[in-house]
Amino acid sequence: MPAVQPLPAGTPDLAGGVLTIDLAALVANWRALAARLAPAACAGVVKADAYGCGAAEAGRALRAAGCTTFFVALPAEGRALRAAVPDAAIYVLNGLPQGAAETFATARLRPVIGDLGELAEWEAFVARTGWSEGAALHLDTGMNRLGLRPEEARALALRPRGQPPVSLVMSHFACADEKDHPMTARQIALFREVRALFPGVPASLANSAGVFLGPEAHFDLARPGYALYGGNPTPWTANPMRPVVRLDLRIIQARTVPPGETVGYGARWTAPATRRIAVVSAGYADGLLRAASARPGARVLGYAGGVACPLVGRISMDLAAFDVTDAPADAVQRGDTIALLSERFGVDDYAEAAGTIGYEVLTSLGRRYRRVHVGG
Ligand SMILES: *Cc1c(COP(=O)(O)O)cnc(C)c1O
Repeated sequence: MPAVQPLPAGTPDLAGGVLTIDLAALVANWRALAARLAPAACAGVVKADAYGCGAAEAGRALRAAGCTTFFVALPAEGRALRAAVPDAAIYVLNGLPQGAAETFATARLRPVIGDLGELAEWEAFVARTGWSEGAALHLDTGMNRLGLRPEEARALALRPRGQPPVSLVMSHFACADEKDHPMTARQIALFREVRALFPGVPASLANSAGVFLGPEAHFDLARPGYALYGGNPTPWTANPMRPVVRLDLRIIQARTVPPGETVGYGARWTAPATRRIAVVSAGYADGLLRAASARPGARVLGYAGGVACPLVGRISMDLAAFDVTDAPADAVQRGDTIALLSERFGVDDYAEAAGTIGYEVLTSLGRRYRRVHVGG
């Protein structure tokens, strides 16, 4: 992935870090997933600002690559995305807020309907206006988050006035990223059964991890998000995806810390010998999850001049410190950068150090960085 883009000569970089989003890698990831899924189709999940990567930029790049169906979480996200992908289908996963049908129609958004009250409201709107853009019906297969229960789906399919006006039926895996979890097979079997209640309607079950479960999980359309952005959809083995996000943090000061002195709040790290410490202009207010600094044994590695530099001490709101003793001195001066998220230490690595998942690392990426989209 290309490194930090220089600003025009003479322009100072005022941001505490540069977040580089590689749209070519994003598209390559989508193509790889699409190839694995064929003949099933591959949508793009771009909720939460495309997992922090920029929904408009990601949407445009994916649409140009041939992606024609997108998923967002909220109607406002759908409205914003509509400008970037004028001719694509946009489904809103969190469904139809009360009284919002008109708003959905104006932006040609498709609600993912997850309960019978929502369905009644949508059907009344469709009957009144003749609206035919589509909607999805969410059928719960065990997650108990959103979606009709199997017995509700059966009653709905058999009701006298006929089937609901939907363009997709879908469900969602609870455990697809845990290898051979028994719930996954149960969900596939139940979904096969309930989707058959709605003959002729395309069906969708798989998220990123689901794409790697083989054809019986693919149905007609898959909905990957995390894997598009370079996250590992198969945590039990090497990441098959290309990294999309790179984060370079600006060094604002480098200092020598004598042995026995400590760094940062709580004096949680003590220099074992004379160490060179680089302080960067980013902290938990920028999404550097503080838990990554507080866990015993957790190791966050930045890279400077090709050398691994461990994060030391607690992450502050706007600052963090790295031990750069082993890095070439000319790579760790004021104004240089330390790569925190890169090919060498990625989103999943940071997540592991913070005791969380890469999804949270991505969606926490701060708004104070200079954001650069490359490869578009
Ligand atoms: C977020 C989400 C996805 C995408 O999941 P990934 O694990 O990021 O691929 C798919 N479907 C639903 C219902 C979701 O909420």
